[in-house]
Amino acid sequence: MPAEPISILKSINSGKVYPLNEVRFTSDNGELLDVIHDFERIKKQHKISKEYFFKKRVIINDQPSGGVWHFKELILPEIHDDHIISKQEGNTRLYRSKKVSSWLALKQDKFYLKHEGENPTGSFKDRGMTVAITMAKQLKQKAVTCASTGNTSASLAAYASEAELTGLVLIPKGNVAVGKISQALAYGTKTLVVNGDFDDCMRLIREAQEKLSAYPLNSINPFRLEGQKTIIWETLMQLNWNVPDWFVFPGGNLGNTSAFGKAVFEAYELGLIDRMPRFAVIQAEGASPFYKAYKNNFTGLKTEKAETIATAIKIGDPVNYTKAVRSLKWTNGIVESVTDEEILEAKAHVDSAGIGAEPASCATVAGIKKLIAAGEIKPKETVVGILTGNILKDPQVIVDYHLKKKSPLANPPYDIEAAIGEMKKFL
Ligand SMILES: *Cc1c(COP(=O)(O)O)cnc(C)c1O
Repeated sequence: MPAEPISILKSINSGKVYPLNEVRFTSDNGELLDVIHDFERIKKQHKISKEYFFKKRVIINDQPSGGVWHFKELILPEIHDDHIISKQEGNTRLYRSKKVSSWLALKQDKFYLKHEGENPTGSFKDRGMTVAITMAKQLKQKAVTCASTGNTSASLAAYASEAELTGLVLIPKGNVAVGKISQALAYGTKTLVVNGDFDDCMRLIREAQEKLSAYPLNSINPFRLEGQKTIIWETLMQLNWNVPDWFVFPGGNLGNTSAFGKAVFEAYELGLIDRMPRFAVIQAEGASPFYKAYKNNFTGLKTEKAETIATAIKIGDPVNYTKAVRSLKWTNGIVESVTDEEILEAKAHVDSAGIGAEPASCATVAGIKKLIAAGEIKPKETVVGILTGNILKDPQVIVDYHLKKKSPLANPPYDIEAAIGEMKKFL
């Protein structure tokens, strides 16, 4: 008798299953797909436990590798190591900051910032990209595409180059931070600037999959989410598998919200954790369809025209909505929204603490501030905030902030003559 496959694609509501090697992103009736692994078998095969992951050593491309592929048997158990396309993504730092925690009035030993901006191309997108691009190769795809607010295109560009695949990225005109678009150009993908917004780009990507056989690497691709699960597992390991009370992170297309829910659900199922953390998803006020749906008890998503300085979460029609709702149900989760001004203030604090992150990432910290004020997050609780992207992604926002006199933490540059007396004034 042929063995049952260890991993399958499964539609999230109707439960209809498809083989892993079928190129598809929704079920026949349009539902999102999960990658589902047979954990009973995997657990038996590998004796999965907390200790297993502590002791395990992974070698990819002849190098010791933690991060994403440390959890290979829970992501793509059957992939041959030699077929993995990896830049050693993950292994990011978990910071404790005296400055930021005191601004938030949280205990320094209970507040952590997980910095996903420390990935190879400067955002968490690399964690999903390594898995999805590996699958693209397995599925013998020729061309890969994405719609992007910037970071997905930077990541796709770097990985497509490594994998020798033709890359095509779609970015909305005038809305992408300079650090991100320059990466896409530098790594050598074809960059198409679309006269429209992110949601228009996303629509084109779905059409290009059907009509041009271009393989999408957006978070509608369920393999992307498999990689992004490791943000949670890695953090849990850094915390000795102790479960924090809260994970707080920004929501745009809601890929992380979906992946993180699956990560804690699976960790619980595998006995790696004994309770579920709570999630708080933070949206920018001008791009908050998920927040509004939450306020209406998830009776439906109303798409909107998005507007915010945090371009990475400037999305009005999140593709992963149904998965994200499920994540919040699993984690007794909440959604909050913050203004651009609150994002910039939080960013100034994260930046001046010597950590730094791009605007969308700092929505996390602005959200924590607001949730503490509202009494949702208690000062004694353990909080992990996810910083999604690197400070250098959006330098323009930083310069603009510090050149404005009315910015509360403005730290402008000063012009001086080349004389020591001029320097003395500043000491
Ligand atoms: C993509 C991105 C987000 C949004 O993440 P979703 O998973 O789409 O909700 C947030 N911050 C940064 C820096 C990003 O690049």
